[in-house]
Amino acid sequence: METITIKDKNFAVSIPEKEILRQVARVAAEINRDYEGETPVFLAVLNGAFLFAADLLREIKLPCEIHFVKLTSYQGLHSTGTIKEVIGLATDITNRPVIIIEDIVDSGMTMAHILNTLRTHNPKSIDICTLLLKPGALKVQLDIRYCALEIPNDFIVGYGLDYDGLGRNTRDIYTLCN
Ligand code: 5GP
Ligand code: MG
Repeated sequence: METITIKDKNFAVSIPEKEILRQVARVAAEINRDYEGETPVFLAVLNGAFLFAADLLREIKLPCEIHFVKLTSYQGLHSTGTIKEVIGLATDITNRPVIIIEDIVDSGMTMAHILNTLRTHNPKSIDICTLLLKPGALKVQLDIRYCALEIPNDFIVGYGLDYDGLGRNTRDIYTLCN
C-alpha cells in the first residue's frame, strides 16, 4: 500500500484519485439535474475545498458563479469557545440559490456557523455540497444534500486537506496510520 510521511506522521492511501473523480462527477450530475433552469452561486470554503471546487466546477454545465470564502476563528470572550466568521463574501446572494462547497463535514459545527451567517443574507436557498462526510462524528442536525464520499472517523489528508498546513497537493486521499 502506498504510504507518505508528513512531518512526524505516516499516512496510507485510502481513496484513490480515480474514485474521488468518479464521485465528484456523480455529485456534479446531481446538481446539473436538480438546478436545471437556475443560475446557482457556488461558495467554496478555503483552503481545503480548492481542488474539489475546481474538479466539481469543470463538471457543472449550468450557468453559474463561483466565489471563495474563508473562515476566521478566534477565542470568544466567554466560554462559548471558538467563533467562526465567514469572510470575503463579496457578492450579493440575496434571493439567489447558493451551493456551499466544503472539503469535509466532521462534527458539523463549522457548517452550522456558515449556514447561520449566510442565512442572514437572505438567499433564495442554500444547499451543502461536501467532498467528505464523517457520519459517525456529526454532532448537529444538518441537511447535507450533496456528499461525494462518506468516511469513518479517521484523520485524512490530501486532495486539498492538510496536516499542519502540509499535504494538500496530492491526487489521492490518505488516512493516518495507527
Ligand atoms: P467540523 O466543524 O465539522 O467538526 O470540522 C470541520 C473542519 O475540521 C474541516 O473544515 C477541516 O478543516 C477539519 N477537519 C475535520 N476532519 C478532518 C480530517 O480528517 N482531516 C483534515 N485534514 N481536516 C479535518
Ligand atoms: Mg474546511
